[in-house]
Amino acid sequence: MHATPLRCAACDTPVDAGPHCRNCTDRDGRVLSFDARLAALRTFLVRTAGLGPEEAERRSLALLVEMPAWRDEARARRG
Ligand SMILES: [Zn+2]
Repeated sequence: MHATPLRCAACDTPVDAGPHCRNCTDRDGRVLSFDARLAALRTFLVRTAGLGPEEAERRSLALLVEMPAWRDEARARRG
């Protein structure tokens, strides 16, 4: 028998303990605002993938579209 894998309610990635992963919450355990999550992703992509700011923004929005907590806002921003 398999337990249902636990997933972050905000970004839908697997987590060990719910309801949210560490990437999606602030120090107090609150889910990040759209802008805060976007900024975190952008910074991550610039630092780890060496992307320029515009490319990082574009890819961050593409990632956010897949995340339940921010998908509507991400879609709106992408136009
Ligand atoms: Zn998450």
